[in-house]
Amino acid sequence: MKVLVIGNGGREHAIAWKLLQSPEITQVFCIPGNGGTATTPKCRNVSLSIDDFEGMLRFAQVQGVALTVVGPELPLSQGIVDFFHSAEAPIFGPTKKGAQIESSKAWAKELMQSAGIPTAASAVFKDAASAVAYVQQQGAPIVIKADGLASGKGVTVAMTLEQAEEAIAKIFSGQFGAAGEMVVIEEYLTGQELSVLAITDGLTIRPLLPAQDHKRLGDGDIGPNTGGMGAYAPAPIATSELMAKIQTKVLEPAIAALREQGIDYRGCLYAGLMITPSGEPMVIEFNCRFGDPETQAILPLLDTPLEKLLLACIERRLEKMPPIAWKPQASVCVVMAASGYPEKVELGKFITGIGKAEASGAVVFQAGTKLKNNSLITSGGRVLGVTATGSNIQAAIASAYSAIESIDYDGAIFRKDIASRAIAS
Ligand code: ATP
Repeated sequence: MKVLVIGNGGREHAIAWKLLQSPEITQVFCIPGNGGTATTPKCRNVSLSIDDFEGMLRFAQVQGVALTVVGPELPLSQGIVDFFHSAEAPIFGPTKKGAQIESSKAWAKELMQSAGIPTAASAVFKDAASAVAYVQQQGAPIVIKADGLASGKGVTVAMTLEQAEEAIAKIFSGQFGAAGEMVVIEEYLTGQELSVLAITDGLTIRPLLPAQDHKRLGDGDIGPNTGGMGAYAPAPIATSELMAKIQTKVLEPAIAALREQGIDYRGCLYAGLMITPSGEPMVIEFNCRFGDPETQAILPLLDTPLEKLLLACIERRLEKMPPIAWKPQASVCVVMAASGYPEKVELGKFITGIGKAEASGAVVFQAGTKLKNNSLITSGGRVLGVTATGSNIQAAIASAYSAIESIDYDGAIFRKDIASRAIAS
């Protein structure tokens, strides 16, 4: 079976890697892929742009691709799945309407409220003056969010009214384009964050192993927000009791509410949750795709062939699938980034030692890398996701950090405390 994976991050490398562990998969194509997918056996990068829907569909048809998996949210929100459906090409991911759950926070909030899904109280505004009047009335701390996709840069957790007003001004300044036409203002929640990625065929929804990521740049969760500096799974905070609550209070109502709106949501639904001090799950956000770097931590633990799960979602037979099988282990992914990340990064540095790191048992998922004259160089802010599994979280942490010691490139930065929260809890 031939599969096409769309995207160029660590998440897509992990998806391609996992698919290739199945004897059924003969070839994985990646559009556009990265240095990691370029050097994986039976994997080939194809240089098409991810907004060239026609080109990608034609490629999939000519190659006889039996499954296309979409990594990032942007093509989903632009309707790539609708486009493939119009040609009856099998593709994993929600339609444009379904992707609104991520591409419009105001839309997602309305859906949650209509379905009674626990989430922070909120209000939506289309102009700065009313938004400012609202925050003055509510007080700080308060959370200010641009409505649309802003690559994680549209959210401000404002500890003071001044920060809140600044964030509102920034959103309405036009710098986020259409994503900043509305602002969602939310009650500030406290607790521990948890990522539950679930797969669904529109009727049945099944969670993958619960994970936690580390969004801040610095050890101890300080510094600016990033795309994610590491993740681990399973997260000990997610007891079976909590997972049961998430299933009945969040995942199932979300799918039911989407269905009520006439949306046949087949793909990954990612619930970004805050677990309150009293142990209740509250939804911070929904994403319409697999998380990055959570996917890199979760997939090495998956025993069921990935393509079987994805095809069961597309063909609406998830209910009939046996329970998803997992290795009884823990997994840790430590992201290595480029110097200057997440601001101005220095690129084009030679990377060495990946082979040695992998010989020690780790898997190195590549993100911002590319091949230049057969040498691997850095080409993006988040460069590698060094991932290791172990019989427990301590063992996985030790293996991941020992593998990192073998890897070298100029200016490499990484957090030293990935998954330490799992030991503390
Ligand atoms: P990303 O793309 O990075 O997943 P995003 O831009 O879609 O994020 P959110 O996930 O909604 O934005 O928020 C980003 C971060 O801000 C959250 O992970 C959380 O740490 C914090 N946050 C968001 N909403 C709240 C809230 N209501 N209370 C407290 N913190 C919040």
